[in-house]
Amino acid sequence: MRWIIVSNRLPFSKFENGELKKSSGGLVTALSGVHTEAPMLWAGIAPDGMTPSLWAEQPDDIKKAYHPVFVNESDYEHYYNGISNDVFWPLFHYEGGRIKFDPVNWQSFMAVNRQIADAIAEISQPGDFIWVHDFHLFLVPQYLRERDLNVRIGFFLHIPFPSSELFRQLPVREELLKGVLGADLIGFHDYAYLRHFCNALLGVLDVDSNMLSLHWQNRNIRLGVFPVSIDVENFMQTAAGPVTEAFYQRYKANRHYSHLVLGVDRLDYSKGLILKLQMFKALLEQHPELQGQVSLLQIAIPTRQDVEEYQKLRAEFERLVGEINGAFSRPNYVPVQYMYSSVGFQELLALYQLADVMLVTSRRDGMNLVALEYIVSQKLDNPGMVVLSEFTGAASMLSSVLTINPWDAFGSAEKIYQALMMPLDERQLRNQAMQEFLKGYTATDWAASFMEELSEDVVSIERLQIEMKLLEPAFMDNFLSRITSPLLLFLDYDGTLVPIRSEPKLATLPESTRELLMKLTSLPHIEVVIISGRDLNFLREQFQGVPVSLAAEHGAKLYDHQRDESVSLIWTAIDAWYPSAERIMTDYSRRVPGSLVEHKEYSIAWHYRKSPAEFGRYQARKLKEELEVGLSNLPVSILSGDKVIEARAVEANKGYFIRNFLESYFSEHAQTAIMAIGDDVTDEDMMQVLPDGSFTIKVGKAQTWARYRLAEQSDVLTLLKTLSEHQWPNFEPEA
Ligand code: UDP
Repeated sequence: MRWIIVSNRLPFSKFENGELKKSSGGLVTALSGVHTEAPMLWAGIAPDGMTPSLWAEQPDDIKKAYHPVFVNESDYEHYYNGISNDVFWPLFHYEGGRIKFDPVNWQSFMAVNRQIADAIAEISQPGDFIWVHDFHLFLVPQYLRERDLNVRIGFFLHIPFPSSELFRQLPVREELLKGVLGADLIGFHDYAYLRHFCNALLGVLDVDSNMLSLHWQNRNIRLGVFPVSIDVENFMQTAAGPVTEAFYQRYKANRHYSHLVLGVDRLDYSKGLILKLQMFKALLEQHPELQGQVSLLQIAIPTRQDVEEYQKLRAEFERLVGEINGAFSRPNYVPVQYMYSSVGFQELLALYQLADVMLVTSRRDGMNLVALEYIVSQKLDNPGMVVLSEFTGAASMLSSVLTINPWDAFGSAEKIYQALMMPLDERQLRNQAMQEFLKGYTATDWAASFMEELSEDVVSIERLQIEMKLLEPAFMDNFLSRITSPLLLFLDYDGTLVPIRSEPKLATLPESTRELLMKLTSLPHIEVVIISGRDLNFLREQFQGVPVSLAAEHGAKLYDHQRDESVSLIWTAIDAWYPSAERIMTDYSRRVPGSLVEHKEYSIAWHYRKSPAEFGRYQARKLKEELEVGLSNLPVSILSGDKVIEARAVEANKGYFIRNFLESYFSEHAQTAIMAIGDDVTDEDMMQVLPDGSFTIKVGKAQTWARYRLAEQSDVLTLLKTLSEHQWPNFEPEA
């Protein structure tokens, strides 16, 4: 078992003069600090300058730890610039107007994602964990899933997930969501991003989720929020080191003004650099006493310099810098100091320490690591303050910073002023609280929490459930040999005995299944009870002539085939609640298009499968609440199922039924083995109450109390066939 980390590029900036140059960045530091017992392998597109033959010459330790994918240049250009940077980056940062979608680029995007998935499939082994990173690789989880590799797949998005209203503009919105849904665990930085993702799933694919997990194509997919962090120890140690200190002293000695405001951003439109200049100008205007006293140092790290849009942004930014400096400069004082370059690590930390205010003005930012780095680099005897855009992921993590709406230049200017004037003891208190928090939550903790969650699931499945290997004689022989007494078999109907159909009335009992049941029930020691949410008339029609008992409406009514009689098992008063529930539901069915009320004897249900997804879900929540409040203290349960809200007599519950049924059954029969097979949540009531040692079997991948699992509905028929053909021993006559 290994961890395979997959990112757009391998963590090398380039291959030059026979040397692989390591790249830095959040992901690299986060993952280099993670300690797992399993070996780690990193897969991604090969660094510039690398070729397959040069790779073959690399030392073994490099070849063991990294797996390069070689992508042709034109495909890479379309995938990386054409789609990732020109479509996903702007859209996910709320810059819908900047999108340039070209279907030709999309073809390359799919091809490169496919190529990366294929490369991983080639090296992966069953049991591996594959962690796919970021928006360049949206389709990789699905492509891996299609290969049926028996691996666990995680996906983490490092940028925001936008509001579903915006997301819906994307021409490939369905493809993207389906791509990500190939994963077993999907993670985001911030709760808001997760919420938007869930709304998009509902609006685009009509997939419901509860923010923790969702069900898709017979799989359970977990969702989570894992805000990234930084290598805190490295920052703290380097900040306290001599090189940083030397930079710090030098810059401090040469400073001609009282206050320094610092900005460190890539020169990207998402960073709000124009907004930053506007609010700084507002600060100088609103507080003229600060003119000559406060300077903004903006480090603008070059990015995508060959793209026209970025060139324009740079020109606009530089024009505005010139304008402000023209208006406010004095001899020996420059209000905006601007560097269009990177700075070295220690120098950066010295600037963090020197600055009284760290100003982050992002229009949108997945996280913003600069804010975190600034906080942990501060000197505790005189720490500075972060003024942080509320449109960053970091804003929900850092409780003691001052947040701004960067679009509000005047309000933001006041916040900067407040930060500059903040008394020392308050700055210390705030900084210390955040340093303590970050010390306990580093990049390593971030990665480890995602990795733990991805592997946790497996442990619990292995511990709790056994996949039934129907085609393996050794497995089945062992399974059957443990049935040592006559068998009582509870079978759910829809999704278990017959496949789910779009229209419930189409789900009739196939002739072949009827024959199978006839054969099974002809065995002297097998007794079958069908237990279903359907009404008794429907079940009697389907099972006419088949010697099985029928528990209808989740056990509210029982047809006993041996006595040939039907009994109601409900003893509470239906009239106390049924008419009210009916009135409320009818009201909703008029209000919500496509919804309808289904009447049964002991339950009534409001279905909204054909209603507009979001509106239907909203109304369903309201209806449930209304019923719960209106019918409280009455003998009725209100349940929400798959696109249905149902009010049922309290006794109409498969668990309740099974308990009562077994009590009377055991008074007449001894030594009975019990098997129960079901696929949906109502069957879980039954799985929960069956005695220990029962053979409880879940169909599908959803969470369950059952001990065994079958992959799909057709497997149930295979199992029943095996039971009907098995050479059973002669069980002792019943006592
Ligand atoms: N950084 C850099 N070169 C510099 C100054 C800063 O690489 O000259 C680093 C900075 O330390 C931070 C990263 O760039 O780790 C920026 O990350 P952030 O999350 O703030 O923004 P992103 O660029 O990822 O959108």
